[in-house]
Amino acid sequence: MDVKGRIHSIETLGLVDGPGLRFVVFLQGCHLRCLYCHNPDSWGENQGRIIGAKELALKIQEYEPYIKNGGVTLSGGEPLLQSEFCAEVLRLCKQLGFHTACDTAGSVSLKTATKVLEHTDLVLLDIKDLDKDDCKKLCGISPKMPIDILRYCEKIEKDVWIRHVLLPGYTLKQSKLERLADFLKKFSCVKKVELLPFHKMGEFKWKTLKIRYLLSNVLEPSREEIKTAIEIFRSRGLKVD
Ligand code: SF4
Repeated sequence: MDVKGRIHSIETLGLVDGPGLRFVVFLQGCHLRCLYCHNPDSWGENQGRIIGAKELALKIQEYEPYIKNGGVTLSGGEPLLQSEFCAEVLRLCKQLGFHTACDTAGSVSLKTATKVLEHTDLVLLDIKDLDKDDCKKLCGISPKMPIDILRYCEKIEKDVWIRHVLLPGYTLKQSKLERLADFLKKFSCVKKVELLPFHKMGEFKWKTLKIRYLLSNVLEPSREEIKTAIEIFRSRGLKVD
């Protein structure tokens, strides 16, 4: 029987979610509530389009000429909430010879994540904030689960790219960035850090959904602030994009 899942949308030729040109599937459903989320329409777990893993893999296969040097990325929402579906899609993609990536905030138990990691070549792991209380304020949970996943990736030598949003007044503080860089530099599985400057491109979606957006008055980081943040990570030997 084909394992079914709920997807939010598809980007057939994505350039920013892993190496090379990629087929990106955005899964429906997320139980975090990041203040800066630009896809609040992906939160509802009972929304989106239902599709079978085999059907999706066949669709992905049609794009083989374009993505054979890139691959397939599952993103969201939070893909690991649909771990069985994701594991099956990525297993089929591996069978087809594609490089696989999973873009996750790691907000599930390690046991749930391992099923998917087994078929994942690269984990794009979003670390929101290392401080427990600040992390809860920012997204609703503590950083324990993503950190457990990171430690597991180190143990099984799974490549990880860390993603971290630079949010003025929240994560964009020298002491926080230094703490994060000092923490990450100990992991040999971390191949790259992607520092993502906060932007408000998703603000209109909050308004459409009638959800209060708390960051209207927060400015996007300046070039200088981004440069300083990058330098903090590079000075500790981490590769940064
Ligand atoms: S984890 Fe991603 S999809 Fe979920 S609330 Fe945060 S930014 Fe939005």
